[in-house]
Amino acid sequence: MSIISINPTNGSQIKTYTDLGFEETVQKIERANTAWESWKKSTRETRNALLISMAGVLRKRSQELAVLMATEMGKPVTQGLDEVEKCARCCEYYAENAEKHLSDRIIETEASKSYVTFQPIGVVLAVMPWNFPFWQVFRFLVPALAAGNCGVLKHASNVPGCALAIEEIVRQAGFPDDVFLTLLVGSDKVSKIIEHPLIKAVTLTGSTNAGIQVATKAGSVLKKTVLELGGSDAYVVLADADLELAAESCVNSRLINGGQSCIAGKRFIIEKTVIEEFIKLFFQKMKAKRVGDPLDAATEVGPQARADLRDELHGQVEKSIEKGAVCILGGEVPPGNNAFYPPTMLINVKPGMPAYYEELFGPVASIIEAEDEADAIRIANDSIFGLGSAVFTQDIAKGEHIAATELQAGSSYVNHRVASDPRLPFGGIKTSGYGRELSDFGIHEFVNVKTVYIK
Ligand code: NAP
Repeated sequence: MSIISINPTNGSQIKTYTDLGFEETVQKIERANTAWESWKKSTRETRNALLISMAGVLRKRSQELAVLMATEMGKPVTQGLDEVEKCARCCEYYAENAEKHLSDRIIETEASKSYVTFQPIGVVLAVMPWNFPFWQVFRFLVPALAAGNCGVLKHASNVPGCALAIEEIVRQAGFPDDVFLTLLVGSDKVSKIIEHPLIKAVTLTGSTNAGIQVATKAGSVLKKTVLELGGSDAYVVLADADLELAAESCVNSRLINGGQSCIAGKRFIIEKTVIEEFIKLFFQKMKAKRVGDPLDAATEVGPQARADLRDELHGQVEKSIEKGAVCILGGEVPPGNNAFYPPTMLINVKPGMPAYYEELFGPVASIIEAEDEADAIRIANDSIFGLGSAVFTQDIAKGEHIAATELQAGSSYVNHRVASDPRLPFGGIKTSGYGRELSDFGIHEFVNVKTVYIK
């Protein structure tokens, strides 16, 4: 079987890669484990210096990597540059903080000494999506290496070039051979990889369906999983909100990465008294976004990553319209051999429509009317997902209360769009997954939290 990368801007084939056979896959897992036998003994100073070196390699190659992303999955180059910079900052964050996060914790008991130490566990399998092809991998990889683990990557099948570039970056930074290896395999091989005894744990970022399949397999062989899955983030706009700021944040959140972000605002729940004004502002800002060639620095929205995913999204839009949603912007598939989809606005979105209950993974905003504040919170929580959420209000105390205690999500922001940050934990509840990445919480997911007791 082959893995073929296709340029979503024009449908042209970029390159064909040969899928690794299972024997070669096993050899790579064994090589990663051999590397781990030494890497787990490396000093904190060595690990930190290599992470800083990796930040340097990323920055040096940023333009080329941004172009690679634009070509393989359609991300506008300016956003690709931001993504590479974020990966570099993640390297620096863990170089500066891993020692603090992983230092032994003395616990007073009747022993002469008792403490907790955080020990590496071995080779972790990462199954990753295409939407942030560098960031999703780095936010797993950097804390993994900092903790003394090694990794193998099964990246999404449409970004093999990015997957191989990451392996090269790790090598160029000076890390020992094989501490991180890319496995160019299809998703049908994942189950057997999980079974391999040298794979100690699995992290998956992707759809809820893929998460369930991977977690089911990993559970059957008792291996820990961290799952970062789909989302349909609710952005609640209360009657007292600064509507200009709210509309700006909501549009920017909805359209980041062509709308293909797990933490994009997807459902905009607006109090009835201000919905008309909000729709007007949102429409103007959505319409003004420049759609075009992702290689053009002026482009704000590129094509979708794959034509089949764009068609799936369009199907959700059509079904929502059939059920009574009103499309006031976009909603049409442009002609030609490409994966473009225009910024689209659906109003009058109600329960029973895909735009209400499903994840719309593209530039489609669902506007939902709420009677009042309590109704808005009820609608926000009326979802199988629980990744991010936001509330817009000028009453900061009220906003904080709603964010901290009312919205069912892994993170809740007040008057700001949701974004991941190496300093803050990231993850979801409900069918958006479990476990956390980034910060001190992320680095503790794949370590042996070991008790040492000396009489
Ligand atoms: P996807 O189809 O689930 O693919 C993600 C990864 O899982 C790919 O490497 C894919 O390989 C693999 N995969 C798919 N089905 C599998 C299976 N049954 N067993 C094992 N592996 C499997 O998701 P996507 O379309 O790439 O990404 C979009 C989804 O990811 C959205 O739902 C989005 O919300 C979610 N996401 C979540 C986060 C988060 O942090 N919570 C971040 C980004 C994206 P192939 O490519 O070979 O199929």
